Amino acid sequence: MAGWSKWAIACLAAGAALARPALAATNAPQLFKERWIDGTNGAEPLVQVQALDADTFVIRQSVKTNFEAPFLYLLFGQDKALLIDTGADGGVIRPTVDRIVAQWLTAHGRKMIPLVVAHSHSHGDHVAGDAAFRGRPDTTVIGHKPADVASFFGITGWPGQNTTFDLGGRKLTILPTPGHQAAAIMVYDPQTMVLLSGDTLYPGRLYIPINFMADNRASVDRLAAFASKHSIRAALGAHIEMTSTAGQDYGHEAPTHPGEHRLELPASLIGELRAGLKARLDAADTRQVHDHFIIVTVPARPE
Ligand SMILES: [Zn+2]
Repeated sequence: MAGWSKWAIACLAAGAALARPALAATNAPQLFKERWIDGTNGAEPLVQVQALDADTFVIRQSVKTNFEAPFLYLLFGQDKALLIDTGADGGVIRPTVDRIVAQWLTAHGRKMIPLVVAHSHSHGDHVAGDAAFRGRPDTTVIGHKPADVASFFGITGWPGQNTTFDLGGRKLTILPTPGHQAAAIMVYDPQTMVLLSGDTLYPGRLYIPINFMADNRASVDRLAAFASKHSIRAALGAHIEMTSTAGQDYGHEAPTHPGEHRLELPASLIGELRAGLKARLDAADTRQVHDHFIIVTVPARPE
């Protein structure tokens, strides 16, 4: 495990600036044709959309509108569509979603499709756009508490029970993954073989409140068990905060992201995250640096 040994070396160096190698290519396939908007082009749009297939759209909110620059996901089945997250403050997501839905309906000779708005978790940078969807016709916006999420998806054994959510010919698996935040979920899509991994696994700083470390470990243990039985082409998270240099992140609230890490992470990093979480991580503000992500503990939070 290259990432693990580099972490150990970084610890020994006690913060000394290390010359880190450029990242070796990960074994996740490249899923996107274009580079993501990263704030380096002053004329970049407020939102960028790239399709994974004709029924799967990935939306990025420009870092110029909010330093979080989150990624959102819109998936269509025959019976309904699912939007995961509504963006951070400063974003205007609904017109983009409405446009994609209208194009999908035209392509399928349809008049309407119900929309479900779910969230990777309930932090503000993933739910800030909810209000714009609450009055939308044929739209259900799921609440922000674990009980709201469990009840909508019919999960009676939260968080230990995964469940299926069928969009119509497209049976997603919903995996409760509390830790980073109490209502966190991941979504596995067998159509694209992609795992939408939220803020629990992405190329960036994986923040874990120390009071939820045990929850996070248990979530990643369950995720690893799921991953051992399913083909995952890539994990796609909700942010990018790593550069394309191994172990090197951008500063907090960086206004631009020149030379970003790819969004796609290989499924093997689930095992690397799980192994990393076995370390002692009981003090706040600990950084455990891996090539493709950094585990960061933060002080206790209410949820
Ligand atoms: Zn976030």
